[in-house]
Amino acid sequence: MIPMVDLKRQYRALKTEIDAAIMEVLDQAQFILGPNVNLLEKEVAAYHQLPHAIGVANGTDALLLALKACGIKSGDEVITTPFTFIATAEVIAQLAATPVFVDICPNTFNIDSNRIEEKITAKTKAIIPVHLFGHPADMDPIMQIAAKYNLKVIEDCAQAFGSKYKGQIAGTIGDIGCFSFFPSKNLGGYGDGGMVITKNEDMAQQIKMLRNHGSSVRYHHSEIGHNSRLDEIQAAIIRVKLQHIDEFNAARRKNAAAYCAALQNKDIILPTVTEGSEHVFHQFTIRSSKRDVIANALTENNIASAVYYPVPLHQQEVFLKLYNNSTKLPVSEMCAQNVLSLPMFPELTSDEIQLITNVINRAF
Ligand SMILES: *Cc1c(COP(=O)(O)O)cnc(C)c1O
Repeated sequence: MIPMVDLKRQYRALKTEIDAAIMEVLDQAQFILGPNVNLLEKEVAAYHQLPHAIGVANGTDALLLALKACGIKSGDEVITTPFTFIATAEVIAQLAATPVFVDICPNTFNIDSNRIEEKITAKTKAIIPVHLFGHPADMDPIMQIAAKYNLKVIEDCAQAFGSKYKGQIAGTIGDIGCFSFFPSKNLGGYGDGGMVITKNEDMAQQIKMLRNHGSSVRYHHSEIGHNSRLDEIQAAIIRVKLQHIDEFNAARRKNAAAYCAALQNKDIILPTVTEGSEHVFHQFTIRSSKRDVIANALTENNIASAVYYPVPLHQQEVFLKLYNNSTKLPVSEMCAQNVLSLPMFPELTSDEIQLITNVINRAF
């Protein structure tokens, strides 16, 4: 069986370091906002050459607190992509603001910056580009539009730790960058976790306060906040993995190159990397009108594959009910019909890639 991601292999390779890191937390017995959260925040900030990183409970909360720190409130509109995990838009709706979906580019699966301006209204307050599958969104035009209309930009980097856009690390370009440490993400812990990064001092203070019950001084509460802290044991684990993230991402790129070399097939559209981008291949996602044929052949050979995402957000039941939305976003709808993600993780071997690509090439 070849799974989409095999977390056991990474654990085995790092077992000594990770076990020691967990044991140290147990020995020190400082379980909430302890030294590992503090150090991970410093290390993630340094990695991104930004002054502030704030650990939170998960990637969804990272986005929610980021929106709050940007002042998003009831009645506001926030522009984002329909081709993403629900969390990106869910948090907008949780604040009684409205997600406004802009169609995507078929080659990168990311928001089409040429179509953003036509969706801007007097209520538009922010844009959430998602660096989907690890490929950075087209940030230059997004930042130009944001400057022109005075909008905040929150980067959803949940799938893109360490990816780069024209030399800039994802998460450092907009006002705030949001990360998830969900176990299967390209930088993942062994439970839920998330982080927010920003150069903005006020937003950083606001998010620190919001994650801890609206409190900056213990038992003094200035706002209605959340219980959304990064767990100390998770922070200790993620600190070990952070030291290897560039190797992990390089291994993913190597695997992607091997897939591409072996999948030269007229029925398959391979993922592209736009000029100036450094993809981290959180997912390796192909497009094919015969994706079900491919998926079935893989299943028969005990190889996993997955459709991310089968229903674009503007067509999700929850948003149809909420907004009575009749928007047509044809590129997202087409991609939902023909995408297929293949097994991808740093430890995937070249023999496995050979096996997977042989099955695919024989499937037609
Ligand atoms: C995983 C993910 C999130 C949410 O992260 P959690 O840690 O699971 O809450 C948000 N956006 C995208 C694009 C994701 O892939």
